[in-house]
Amino acid sequence: MTAISSQAPTAAQGEPLVVLDHVEKWYGDLHVLQDINLSIKRGEVVVVIGPSGSGKSTLCRTINRLETIGSGTITLDGQALPQEGKALAGLRAEVGMVFQSFNLFAHKTILENVMLGPVKVRKSSKADAEKRATELLDRVGLAKHAPKYPSQLSGGQQQRVAIARALAMEPKVMLFDEPTSALDPEMIKEVLDVMVDLAKQGMTMVVVTHEMGFARTAADRVVFMADGQIVEEGTPEEFFTHAKSERARDFLGHIL
Ligand code: ADP
Ligand code: MG
Repeated sequence: MTAISSQAPTAAQGEPLVVLDHVEKWYGDLHVLQDINLSIKRGEVVVVIGPSGSGKSTLCRTINRLETIGSGTITLDGQALPQEGKALAGLRAEVGMVFQSFNLFAHKTILENVMLGPVKVRKSSKADAEKRATELLDRVGLAKHAPKYPSQLSGGQQQRVAIARALAMEPKVMLFDEPTSALDPEMIKEVLDVMVDLAKQGMTMVVVTHEMGFARTAADRVVFMADGQIVEEGTPEEFFTHAKSERARDFLGHIL
């Protein structure tokens, strides 16, 4: 396989797009995010890995403010993320999110699922939204399924619709939280292929995944989390061959 990251060196050298500065979060007594400092450049693909319960999902959810933070700041394209209100809805629309569960609307067609955000939130005309949704479904290889309902598609296909739906909002950054964890093995590749394609086209991406093949080929940077902290980070090459921390080496020993 070719090294995807080497094909987009200029994009990876862009200015910071998402910046987390001294971010702290508690759930009661649980210090779930501890002094998180992370700067994600425009066009960069950051893969976040770490044991279950280390705070990876919480990290993703703070970036689009599905979760509030205790202290610290998060900025998106130079703007501080507001805690609530209209300004928050506007900023949140700039962050696409794809979860383990696809969360498509069961009573709407694939096409309608992809059109919905642009029509409701972006106030696009139906005609424009349909045109764009059709292009996006084509891009994820599902154009001919547009009139179907989610239940008529496989899990891998549904997840590709979920990616198209997120892209329809024209986000500045895409967050993926274990997008292939709920899929049967034979469907994982079709979803990862779409993500690799997106990375090649210069999308800024934060990807929580256990797919180390994806991390090796598509990531510009691997961030390793444990117990609410970023324990270490580096290029995939550095991380997979010379992990510095005992915890990272131990984790890799279990999954590789
Ligand atoms: P990961 O995605 O790395 O598995 P999470 O971010 O989901 O980790 O969770 C980090 C920790 O925070 C876990 O101990 C989890 O049980 C806890 N946690 C997550 N969400 C909540 C919540 N809403 N309330 C209380 N504790 C939570
Ligand atoms: Mg998680």
